[in-house]
Amino acid sequence: MSEAIRRLVQGVVDGSLSDDELAEWLRDVFDEGLSEQDTVTLTEAMRDSGDVLEWSSDISDLVVDKHSTGGVGDKVSLVLAPALASCGLKVPMISGRGLGHTGGTLDKLESIPGFSVEMGISGIREQVEGIGVAMVGQSDALVPADRRMYAMRDVTGTVASVPLITSSIVSKKAAEGLSALVLDVKFGRAAFMPAIGNSLEILESVETLCGRGPEDLEELVCVQGGLLLQATGLAAGFEAGAVMIHDSLHDGSAFQRFREMVQAQGGDASILDSDASLTQGLGLMDPELNTTELSSGSAGWVEDIDAMAIAEACLGLGAGRTRLGDIVDRAVGAILEVQVGDRLEVGEPWMVLYHRGEMDKRVLEGLLGSITLSDEEVVPESRIAEVFE
Ligand code: URA
Repeated sequence: MSEAIRRLVQGVVDGSLSDDELAEWLRDVFDEGLSEQDTVTLTEAMRDSGDVLEWSSDISDLVVDKHSTGGVGDKVSLVLAPALASCGLKVPMISGRGLGHTGGTLDKLESIPGFSVEMGISGIREQVEGIGVAMVGQSDALVPADRRMYAMRDVTGTVASVPLITSSIVSKKAAEGLSALVLDVKFGRAAFMPAIGNSLEILESVETLCGRGPEDLEELVCVQGGLLLQATGLAAGFEAGAVMIHDSLHDGSAFQRFREMVQAQGGDASILDSDASLTQGLGLMDPELNTTELSSGSAGWVEDIDAMAIAEACLGLGAGRTRLGDIVDRAVGAILEVQVGDRLEVGEPWMVLYHRGEMDKRVLEGLLGSITLSDEEVVPESRIAEVFE
């Protein structure tokens, strides 16, 4: 079996495996699973489908990263990577595009005009050694097997498979030559935060990098960053590390690193100069973009919001891909005006959808019942259920 998996990965990269053959194999794994040993073989073969980054001894202990299993409205990477760099760590982040109903860091970054996620190995090394952070995609040189398999999983409904998720994530991280890694394992129908959609998520990430973000996102960033600063010895302990990250979000240093990264990767950093230029630059002022507000039919405390229903609505409006080669509409998305625990009155808006043209009735129907209210006060829980070290 091991040899067959290695041959398959070779065929993915050299093109001798057709799209249909790859789709069939992905569906088999999705239905039948893979043994632990075969998952390890697949992961190693995917890592070795390209180069593995190497770092000089003076920085190799500081090279870290974080990866998420995929969520809705999940913008931790966008905030955490520059914050880590501003605290002295080095982050060569190889990310992914939107997958199924979940968003992708690369699609979000490309909402910034000019931002390129395609970089050669020497460019990545130079940028990480210099400003401490690069956020790039898989390429011919780095995990090319994941690039093709990832895109194919997105359109064959084979995303939610533990061996495929594991090999996809770990092969990318293993190719980065890391000394420490945090894995953000999402659970529930889909974990998510207030803004969903590529441009809207950049907007909220920039807010968070400037110390004005939602508390739950800031908490996730501080905890994950604290663990990495502790693991590399740059902080005496996890709490001290979390405070360093928190400070970087409030003293402008994390934002400054983000700005430098945008500039280094060809993006128009001038859009970051004011709220108005950012909204304009991200295409959110486009006159062809319409908004539709959803209001509450009853009063109560927000007990649950169905992230999956909202993600599927955004997908239906064009925020993600349903076929290979689909063009993502980066300005499409949703802003949630409430969070679990908030009080909502009759007729009060709880979500704003950003879409093109007339609002699609089927999308609205899919959102019926996506918010649950309670007659009793609801106390929101932390986004972090458990930390495993
Ligand atoms: N992130 C990845 O890189 N791959 C997956 O399969 C899921 C999340």
